[in-house]
Amino acid sequence: MPFTNEGFDTIHQLLKQQNLSLMPGPFNSQADVFKAYRESAQLITRTIPHEAGHAVVGLALDAGDVLEWIAIYAVRDGLPGGGCKWGEKSCPIEHQWMSTVGGMAAERLKYGDYLATTAQFDKADLARAGFNPARLPEFLDKCGDLIRSNDATWKELQQLLYERTVGDLNDRIDAIRQGDIDVGVVTGQEARDIFKKHSA
Ligand SMILES: [Zn+2]
Repeated sequence: MPFTNEGFDTIHQLLKQQNLSLMPGPFNSQADVFKAYRESAQLITRTIPHEAGHAVVGLALDAGDVLEWIAIYAVRDGLPGGGCKWGEKSCPIEHQWMSTVGGMAAERLKYGDYLATTAQFDKADLARAGFNPARLPEFLDKCGDLIRSNDATWKELQQLLYERTVGDLNDRIDAIRQGDIDVGVVTGQEARDIFKKHSA
């Protein structure tokens, strides 16, 4: 199934079936619990294009060789969130800023905006890297252009992240509940292969 709004519905159904919410709670009513499933499904559905966006920008800026993995969510320090894991590689500071902005830019491309909750980690990373927040609109545009010019890679990464996430929510629910696995993982090698295929 293509990754579209049906993706949200599928993930939402799965979370409800598995009684799995990523939200911290407390939940004081059944309505709160249902809201948490919806918000969790929204977070996962947003994280797919977001993380694929980070990855595609890094791949396009020649950092693919140090991409270790992409994941849709893991709970770290009590906070759920996706991630791209990169090894060390020296690059121009502008490239580092671009790859950090890539997630927000991708979410904006797909949904017209980005979620403040997922952006807060990226914004903190940008601040640590000396980024001037006044330049965010400029970088959102630049990253959006770069993602659009690698559209086939971005879409295929999203599809694979989505399939892996749904697979994990079906098959690895106990480990997910214990919070000791990353969900929806795509390896750096798989991402490099997809990028190479579409760049040929
Ligand atoms: Zn991000």
